[in-house]
Amino acid sequence: MSAREEFDAWAADGRDRGMEERHWHTAKHALARLPVEAGDTVLDLGTGSGYVLRALRDTADIGRGYGLDASPEMLRNARSYTDDPQVGFLRGDFDALPLATDSVDHVFSMEAFYYAPDPKHTLEEIRRVLRPGGTFYCAVNYYEESEHTHAWQDNISIDMTLWSAADYRRAFREAGLVVAEQDEIPDREVEIPPASEFPTEEWETREAMVDRYRTHGTLLTVGVAPA
Ligand code: SAH
Repeated sequence: MSAREEFDAWAADGRDRGMEERHWHTAKHALARLPVEAGDTVLDLGTGSGYVLRALRDTADIGRGYGLDASPEMLRNARSYTDDPQVGFLRGDFDALPLATDSVDHVFSMEAFYYAPDPKHTLEEIRRVLRPGGTFYCAVNYYEESEHTHAWQDNISIDMTLWSAADYRRAFREAGLVVAEQDEIPDREVEIPPASEFPTEEWETREAMVDRYRTHGTLLTVGVAPA
């Protein structure tokens, strides 16, 4: 199955809004760090419901927001949630970003980067579209250190890239991005029941759930395009 088919099906099931709700727990902390100036152009890679751009327009006075996604159904939903003329949704693939060289101030991506068929090439594309001094905020919940996410690959037909924090830093540098910061943002909003309630439908042990949400959560890697 292609990314398009897979995520069209998710969008038709309303999973775009479900992801928005869950991802917001940590995405908002990553977004709050984005050093946006009034009028900046922001690209959201794998935009899903498009919540990142709506939030940035509400809070940060960005100029232009582009939400890129391979799934027409995701884009259709995203468009239906806003009528902001400064926000545009683009059909495109992580392999070839449909944007001019040096045209974007910030690229943001939540829970999408590891679906890139060739993630190193995608980093080169990001580097290409960023203006000198522009930033890439890359947030992922699926990564080597967060071992309770690894089984996600079993439930999806697209190959997912499982990198460690060090792999992210290395790949960013190889693509010509300076690594400005990296850390894990815990999810403190998912409620973890008392030990007596385990196993739950989803979790074998309380320890596993604590490891997934509180110890790990979201890995944020920040790259800067050299001036
Ligand atoms: N950022 C959103 C959506 C995450 S789901 C959120 O936080 O909720 C991942 C998104 O990436 C989906 O909308 C999917 O259609 C998109 N995607 C996956 N592979 C892609 C690719 N190769 N090119 C472009 N978009 C892709």
